[in-house]
Amino acid sequence: MSNKIFNAIWSVALIVFVASLVFVMGVSYTYFSGVQKDQLKIETELAAQGAMLGGTEYFELLKDVDYRITWIDSDGTVIYDNEADSGNMENHMQREEVKEAVKYGWGDASRYSTTLSERQFYEAKLLSDGSILRLSSKQITIWTLLLAFGQPIAFVALLALIASLILASRLSKRIVEPINKIDPERPLDFAGKKELKEIEPLLRRMNMQQTEIKRNQEQLERTSQIHQEFTANASHELKTPLHAISGYAELLENGMVKPEDIRPFAGKIRNEAQRMTKLVSDILDLTKLDDDSGEMQWEEVDLSLVARNAIDSVEAEADDMGISIEFSGETAVLQGIPQLLYSIVYNLCDNAIKYNRPGGAVKVFVSSSDDSAVLSVRDTGIGIPEEHKSRIFERFYRVDKSHSREIGGTGLGLSIVKHAALIHHADITVSGKEKEGTTFTVVFPKCQY
Ligand code: ADP
Repeated sequence: MSNKIFNAIWSVALIVFVASLVFVMGVSYTYFSGVQKDQLKIETELAAQGAMLGGTEYFELLKDVDYRITWIDSDGTVIYDNEADSGNMENHMQREEVKEAVKYGWGDASRYSTTLSERQFYEAKLLSDGSILRLSSKQITIWTLLLAFGQPIAFVALLALIASLILASRLSKRIVEPINKIDPERPLDFAGKKELKEIEPLLRRMNMQQTEIKRNQEQLERTSQIHQEFTANASHELKTPLHAISGYAELLENGMVKPEDIRPFAGKIRNEAQRMTKLVSDILDLTKLDDDSGEMQWEEVDLSLVARNAIDSVEAEADDMGISIEFSGETAVLQGIPQLLYSIVYNLCDNAIKYNRPGGAVKVFVSSSDDSAVLSVRDTGIGIPEEHKSRIFERFYRVDKSHSREIGGTGLGLSIVKHAALIHHADITVSGKEKEGTTFTVVFPKCQY
């Protein structure tokens, strides 16, 4: 973090520094060139007066000057040059500044000198005898300027570097410190704080995620608890018939059963075994609903057809108990999972028969509206006391445990019904009075969105 801030500050400082340097260099270059030119003109004027008074001897006296002095005759021949041998020099009449001086009295130019191999400023003056005196000096360059400014430039760069370092460390501290104080468990406690204003949307998102994580965690814990309870209940329920079977078997083994009682004993063992089979099959159905209802096949199903099939399966049982079961209603096509719809009708009818009275009746009714299909199963049985109605859909919950066991109940039928209804987004209600009978009504939406 600190490194990144430092790099950002340092880059900005460097850009500003280089831009200002280019600007200052440009301005300085123009300024110093102007000063150089003005000075050269003054020096030329002075030298011209000297030349008129003392001729070349005057120049001989001028040792160690910073200028190059060239005196040119009116025909362009170089009479004197303090830096080159005048005898070897070419005619200077065509030099720009010389031409200008002949024409206007003064002339100046700036160009690369082939004689001295550097860029020069030239200032020429026409003297009264027709000759021309020319002074030139090395033109200042950007590099000379840069070299001259070297020290202050290095100093400013160093200053910028140190300032960036200090600023970066302070800034990163100021940014990071309040962030480090945030408690990820309760990010919203830090919202509204001035120093965290910029990251408030992040705090809100963190809070949302925290809430979601907590919710998921709670759901996972709840599911795992339900699973644990279910496993404990299931093994307990399975143990009961197993104990009974092994008890009966032991009595038989020890010869403690009279020969005439052997048949009823075998019947009891068979009943317990059947109970176990029913339990295992209900447990498997529920586990399947829990685990892979998502993979079951959805299709268009006629609920009335499913109801008739389920009634066919329980008719024999109803007959045995002297209970009439009848269907009425109409075609009601809905989008559903056939085996689950079947298990809803089957379990409701099975209960309506099991918890009925001799000579009682069960009425199954299917109706259809624009967007829903309704199944109702009404019986004239023992009814469900009001206080139990909200709990009968719980796994292994029975109103009368021993009665349920006697008639082969597992306590899982209504849980399967509820689960299957939930998968279909169906609404399930139970009505009826104790001792008068019960009506279960399931309202299915026809389409699943
Ligand atoms: P069980 O296998 O014991 O029938 P269910 O889950 O199917 O388990 O039902 C739970 C309890 O709800 C039953 O034990 C019974 O007490 C009560 N119950 C269910 N259906 C009826 C009904 N039609 N009439 C009276 N009581 C019922």
